[in-house]
Amino acid sequence: MKNLLFFFVFAVMLASCARNPITGKKEFAISEKKEIALGAAYDPQIVSEMGQYKDPGLDALINKLGKEMATDSHRPELEWKFTIIDSDVVNAFAVPGGYVYFTRGILAHFNNEAEFAGVLGHEIGHVTARHTAKSMVRQQIAQVGMIAGMLASQEVRNNMEAISQGMSLLFLKYGRDAESESDALGVEYSSEQGYDANYMAGFFRTIDRLQKQAGVTIPDFQSTHPNPLNREVNVKQMAGEWQAKLPGAQDKVNRDSYLRLLEGLVYGKDPKQGFVENNVFYHPVLKFQFDIPNGWTLNNSPSQVQVLAPENQGAVIFSLAAGENASAAATAWVQQNELTASAQKAVTVNGMSGYQVSGSQGGEATQTQQASPEVLWQATFIAYNGQIYNFLEVAQAASVNAIGQTLEIPYRSFNRLTDANYLNREPERVKILKVTSTNSLQNHLRAAGIPNDRLLEFGILNGMELNEQVKTGTLIKVVSNMKK
Ligand SMILES: [Zn+2]
Repeated sequence: MKNLLFFFVFAVMLASCARNPITGKKEFAISEKKEIALGAAYDPQIVSEMGQYKDPGLDALINKLGKEMATDSHRPELEWKFTIIDSDVVNAFAVPGGYVYFTRGILAHFNNEAEFAGVLGHEIGHVTARHTAKSMVRQQIAQVGMIAGMLASQEVRNNMEAISQGMSLLFLKYGRDAESESDALGVEYSSEQGYDANYMAGFFRTIDRLQKQAGVTIPDFQSTHPNPLNREVNVKQMAGEWQAKLPGAQDKVNRDSYLRLLEGLVYGKDPKQGFVENNVFYHPVLKFQFDIPNGWTLNNSPSQVQVLAPENQGAVIFSLAAGENASAAATAWVQQNELTASAQKAVTVNGMSGYQVSGSQGGEATQTQQASPEVLWQATFIAYNGQIYNFLEVAQAASVNAIGQTLEIPYRSFNRLTDANYLNREPERVKILKVTSTNSLQNHLRAAGIPNDRLLEFGILNGMELNEQVKTGTLIKVVSNMKK
């Protein structure tokens, strides 16, 4: 991750003159070689940080369509790579060099291949128009959290930055002009493959409805500027222009074949990645649980879990550690992070053997830096089920009186998970139904067992209004393993 941050800073600082493949104009941007190196360095990090979702049918579609579109695009020579990310956030994004990502969340929300193709073209457009990560870099560097900054250890800081970068990628925004340009390219590229880009326009209605739903996040493809409904109007107009300009028919929609591909797709959060219920974090695959202090927030990513105190007073970072046993893991970790432990001892946590190290950082000025606030840290390594887990607590010295005991709640409550009720949680999965009567969407959904408080959610998922008439033989989306 150190390299990753370096690359981004590098990308911003070493801007050089390169030609834009769309406009042909010379402009300040990183060289193509650096751009490709940036993407190649970033891609494995994104995949490991966010997790890849493997689905043979959807992988085949995104790769086939992505490569056809990229071959006909302004930059066919790049080594394009298309990946499905295991996240329920509704988003798609791209990084320089030809790397395009769709979440399983956005795949669930498309209702035909034409919408899919339009968004794919939009993301390919960010790469071909060289919308480099300029804005992303600034935003991410600014976002590096206060807690991360509190620690002097570069390794720990990098580790925390990695998470905020991984997370913020799901929420990154390009500027208004870049989005408009990518919308135009999305229309062009998908029309060239024979798709009806009016459906791409229609997907902005889904975006708009998702944004209006309380508590829904607003990521890249969904950027609020320009407004989705304005984008819908513009894209519709461009769709007509391309249909008039291109030979042949641009009428491909492929609704049923696309919906059939969604059968069994994980929908919403996947409990197998860990979930919180009544202030307890459960991990059914690794078979452990621990308590979350009341009012604290939890960020769960494949590589670590962050438990954050209110107002950045402190944090607990939970991750896997490496070592023969808890004490060896602790020693190795202290060395790697160039920390000095002022205390260390063997501990037992709910019958499991562990080792605890603690110390402090900062508080003194150096030749080059002003005094940073003193930060106390304590790391508890626990051996369980063939793994070593690390609970790292960090807090400003000034906050320790207020939250010190609370910081210990997660590690002290770490325990084996044996309750079948939590071990056997299954995610909801998309189920495709062919309706056998003509009725409103709302009535079809009710008949399929969708509860009243989730009707709107499923209306959006189906890209229809609840009172819309759905004819006999039409496919609609519902879910299996419905949450109570
Ligand atoms: Zn975009």
